[in-house]
Amino acid sequence: MPSGRVHNLINIGTYSALAAAALYADRTGLWPIAWTDALGFSAAFLIGTFLLSPDLDLATGRVDSKRRWGLLGFIWVPYGRVFSHRGLSHSWVLGPLTRLGYLALLLALLFGLAQTAWPELRRPLPALDERWLWPVVAGYFLSQWLHLMADGVGPGHGWRHLRGRRSRSR
Ligand SMILES: [Zn+2]
Repeated sequence: MPSGRVHNLINIGTYSALAAAALYADRTGLWPIAWTDALGFSAAFLIGTFLLSPDLDLATGRVDSKRRWGLLGFIWVPYGRVFSHRGLSHSWVLGPLTRLGYLALLLALLFGLAQTAWPELRRPLPALDERWLWPVVAGYFLSQWLHLMADGVGPGHGWRHLRGRRSRSR
C-alpha cells in the first residue's frame, strides 16, 4: 500500500501533466479553458489530495492527511472510528461523498451551536454559480480516484464491501 508521500507524488505528478496539457490546449486555441474551470478544478483537486484523502479513515492514529489539518486534526477521529481502513471510505462514489457529508455535518452542528448562543445568526446561503460545479466535482473526484487506483482498489469495491457487510450481519 503506497504511503501518504507516494500518494501525494502520484497526484501532483498527474496534476502537473494535466495542467501542462491544458495550458497547451488553451494557448494553441485547441481547447480554450475558462479561468473558472481551471481554478475550480485545481482548488478541488488540491483539497481532495491534501485535506480530504481517503486515508482519513486512519485518523484514530497518526496519518498525514489528519496532520495537515493542524490543530483541527482531531475532528477526523470520529470519522476514523466509524470507517474501517479501506472499507467504504475507499469506494469510488460513496467514499468521497462520506468525507464531504461528514464535514457538512460538523459545520451544521457548529452552526447549530453558534445559533443557540446568538439566535439572530442566519445561515449564510452560499450563492454558488453553477459554472463552478462540474470543474469542482471533476477535480475532487479525480484526486480521490487516483488515490484509490494507487491503492489497487477497483470501482466495484464499494458494492462488494456493502454486500460483504450485509452477508456478515445475516
Ligand atoms: Zn488509501
